[in-house]
Amino acid sequence: MLQLSAAGEKPYIISLSQSLEGQAEIFRIYAWNATHGGGERRAADEYRVQFTGARPEIVAGQRTVVLGWSEKFQVFVGWDATIHKDRGSASPSLQVRQATLESAKVHGFAVAERKSGDIVVAIAPHFLSVYFWNAERLHQEGSGELVEALNAIPQEAPELNPLPLEADEAQDDRQQIVRTIRSNYRAWDFRVRVLEAYGDMCAVCGLQLGLVEAAHIVPVAWPGSTDETSNGIALCRNHHKAYDSALISFSDDMNVLVADSIRNRFDVRARSGGSDDLEALEGLAVVKLPEAFRDRPLASYVALGRIARNW
Ligand SMILES: [Zn+2]
Repeated sequence: MLQLSAAGEKPYIISLSQSLEGQAEIFRIYAWNATHGGGERRAADEYRVQFTGARPEIVAGQRTVVLGWSEKFQVFVGWDATIHKDRGSASPSLQVRQATLESAKVHGFAVAERKSGDIVVAIAPHFLSVYFWNAERLHQEGSGELVEALNAIPQEAPELNPLPLEADEAQDDRQQIVRTIRSNYRAWDFRVRVLEAYGDMCAVCGLQLGLVEAAHIVPVAWPGSTDETSNGIALCRNHHKAYDSALISFSDDMNVLVADSIRNRFDVRARSGGSDDLEALEGLAVVKLPEAFRDRPLASYVALGRIARNW
């Protein structure tokens, strides 16, 4: 949940919680435009923000985030909120390389180590809340090793499926950050690829209207699940839920299967409305499959998807 304060003064005070039930935390957001300016003394590939109006202030119990916004690359830049304190300049500024901005525009995020040793992060808007929650650790743990590990994430093959760690498995902060960013990146990348392959259309009913989700065929938590497009299918919210609830499923050659006696199951409580519509889908071919053969559901995944849902 995101709530912006009304005033335009810095910082923007944001109250943010990680889930609807989660405890809200206060974020102090300082944001400036990141521009190329600075004249001839500046490197040609350097963008920067200049602190005007306010200097970032660290307040106990709140999180401070220092951001630049690059209109040109449509990405945010995040710096360690604490670094300006040691720098006495009358008009301090923070810098980022153009290559970092370009990389974030393509991959959603990019990390770089600055000469001073601290970390600068460029972030596409859809990753901003992930950054908010991890900024403190990210900048504290900043190192060349972390930079390398994070920048490698977009290059990892989607058939690799890093299973969630067991609760008792030790992880240091650095591993946790990589894991968090990876899972967010993976979820985003999978969704983009699957929805693109299906033209944002529900494979079962053809609905679009922004109501379509990218479903994993072999569920994420199931051994052998992957983030390949061929383990995904675009489904409207109803058909996604129906698939995961085993009201419908798919044959290996992508005909719709409908569970037996849905009507009987729900008639008991007089909750069988719509069962005719669902049952009418039995045996029909899905209305939409990706054009590229490699993006279509792999029969072995579809079969495993049925097993995982007790079909
Ligand atoms: Zn649908």
